[in-house]
Amino acid sequence: MKAKFTQEYLERAHDHVYLNADECNRSTSCRCFYCGYSFPPSEIDYINSWFEPETASCPMCQIDAIIGDASGYPVNDGEFVVAASEFFFDGISRISDGRPVVRLKIIGLEVE
Ligand SMILES: [Zn+2]
Repeated sequence: MKAKFTQEYLERAHDHVYLNADECNRSTSCRCFYCGYSFPPSEIDYINSWFEPETASCPMCQIDAIIGDASGYPVNDGEFVVAASEFFFDGISRISDGRPVVRLKIIGLEVE
């Protein structure tokens, strides 16, 4: 399979999921690379963030795998979304599974 996005490109994209609140807030749209949800910065969830408050987490699944379009990465390009999700989560994500975006209920550390 020809990779449209190189490993180096995806590694650099991954740097944008940490301490990214400012970048996400400067974005028009943000994308969760775990569940695929696309949302405006006003929906960014910090309250349930398990990590630093400066790191955005997803309002649907609470995973901190958010990249905003202010990063310059094509967060609304379906091929990029799939390639990056596969790379970030080693093929284990709701995107990789082709599952729909739904609000997940977190109980302890288990995701239902
Ligand atoms: Zn999500």
